[in-house]
Amino acid sequence: MVKIGILNLQGAVSEHYNITRKAVKNMGVDVEVESVRYAEDVETCDGLIISGGESTVIGKLIKQRGIDKVIKENNIAVFGTCAGMVLLSKKTDFNQPLIGLMDIAVKRNTYGRQKDSFECPIDIFGKKYLGVFIRAPALDSYNHSKEDIKVLSVLDDEIIAIQQGPHIAISFHPELTEDTLIHEHFIDGVINRS
Ligand code: GLN
Repeated sequence: MVKIGILNLQGAVSEHYNITRKAVKNMGVDVEVESVRYAEDVETCDGLIISGGESTVIGKLIKQRGIDKVIKENNIAVFGTCAGMVLLSKKTDFNQPLIGLMDIAVKRNTYGRQKDSFECPIDIFGKKYLGVFIRAPALDSYNHSKEDIKVLSVLDDEIIAIQQGPHIAISFHPELTEDTLIHEHFIDGVINRS
């Protein structure tokens, strides 16, 4: 059975767990959703969701526990939101541990501090979606020569959602909405490659 892990190290983990379960139910598919904390749990997953939170903290734990190695060795699809987007990048404006699965560079805190958090409608997959931005990053650049990269959403000239192969990085918080659209897209991708 296809398994989606929710990386449970720090941040908005339970919200992702709940919305992923809801997405699976809506889709009517046979997918297991499990909260995972260690490399040996991650190893058994086909897809992994990395939540928002503090990317420096999550990144340090990922390295310490060898989770990045297991993701790469097992070719696990990763969906990263906010801090998760930062961790999927190869480069940020800070010196911090990264997984570096996507050929993207990210600017952390593009929209300012916690008090500058905001919500606004965005366009993604041809639909309107509520973007919840909390100390959100945005894309600094991506490698245009990579044919498997697809920009999914742009807000005021900033790229806020991007996909490379099975991996998806978005700068906002879908787990804080009721809308399973993006989770369903990720799950669908994981099912179709396994
Ligand atoms: N700015 C945070 C970071 O770079 C991310 C914030 C969030 O995930 N809400 O770690």
